[in-house]
Amino acid sequence: MTDTYVEINLNTMAQNARNIVAKYPEYGTFIGIVKGDAYGHGYGIVNALYDNGIRYFAVSSMEEAAAFRRENAEAPLLCLEPVAIDRLDEAAELKLTLAIPDTDYMDALIESKCAYPFKLHIQIDSGFNRLGFKDKNEIKQAADRIEASPYTLEGVYQHYATAGIFDPYYDAQQERFRELTSLLDLSQIPLVHLGSGIALMAHKKPDIATATRMGLMMYGYNISPDSYGSSPKDRLRAARDKYYQKKYNLSEVIRDVELELTPAMTFKCRILQLKEVKKGEHIGYGAAYTAEEDIKIAVLPVGYNNGIGHQNNSRVVEINGKLFPVVGEIGMNMMCVKVDADTKLTDTVTLLGGRITLGMFSRFSGMGLAEIMLGVGKNNPRVYIDESDE
Ligand SMILES: *Cc1c(COP(=O)(O)O)cnc(C)c1O
Repeated sequence: MTDTYVEINLNTMAQNARNIVAKYPEYGTFIGIVKGDAYGHGYGIVNALYDNGIRYFAVSSMEEAAAFRRENAEAPLLCLEPVAIDRLDEAAELKLTLAIPDTDYMDALIESKCAYPFKLHIQIDSGFNRLGFKDKNEIKQAADRIEASPYTLEGVYQHYATAGIFDPYYDAQQERFRELTSLLDLSQIPLVHLGSGIALMAHKKPDIATATRMGLMMYGYNISPDSYGSSPKDRLRAARDKYYQKKYNLSEVIRDVELELTPAMTFKCRILQLKEVKKGEHIGYGAAYTAEEDIKIAVLPVGYNNGIGHQNNSRVVEINGKLFPVVGEIGMNMMCVKVDADTKLTDTVTLLGGRITLGMFSRFSGMGLAEIMLGVGKNNPRVYIDESDE
């Protein structure tokens, strides 16, 4: 085994896919977001999803699309970022669905006379102000031009900027999406998809939506907002939120969604050396840590080179089911943890997974959830686990 490694459990990915699809029968098509090397999980996961009900996928770039196609030649695959017009032949070879962000791109695509019968999704900018059309007449024009072209208008979509947990911006975006698509006959467009995992979990399906997109959830994280506790403060919060919901006619928030999702990624390493450190001795760069008593430490082959960031807000690792704190600075390739007398050189160390949740890791490192998965997943050797093979 390599000194550090990321285990990706394919059975878990498969179960997550089955659970999501079973939970939301009102959506016809689930678009699995596998940008960023499948959130660091690698494209080795795609068939675990595809075989279990996630039948459409989306990537960010042609390079990601090519890596995806090495695993799966047939699944419909949307490229969320506009493919460079001089690379349309490559996109055709990869059988990509193209996103259309504006009129200029639409014109260039038609002028390219690329003969491949691309499926197209019109991107609507309903308030994110990143990619997408902002004018309903241009949207109608684009749809008409597609109608008269060798291509097919298969989808129309937008992206939410906020989670819609008592923020009116979510509702405003949905309203704006309806307005911007009002000149189209949405019932004639097979895939209308508005938003991501949090929208799926925390909100009812908008009547116009026929498909949904999600990332984080598939990898095993139930991102549904928690319900209020029973403390006086929480009860006040609940009453206030209810008042605002009425007053501003905000869409309802669904909390505490019961949906079993299990993280598929675990990050582990071995121990390089065990060492006694005497009271008063210092550890690591800047001699920043001073032992307050005689302690035993383990030197680990993990540092910010392994994608974990360099921040250490009370970070802990798990060894034999026990949690141990990181002591001293996190270096490029190594860090130290304070261990106990039972720790052996042959023990396996878990840095993410087991008792260490993604939420804890986020607090240790100051990194976002997806950012952690990317950092860990892309900077360490990956091992896929498939127990159904055995
Ligand atoms: C990344 C992304 C998603 C997935 O978001 P999650 O929060 O991981 O569910 C959905 N749609 C678009 C356009 C994205 O870029």
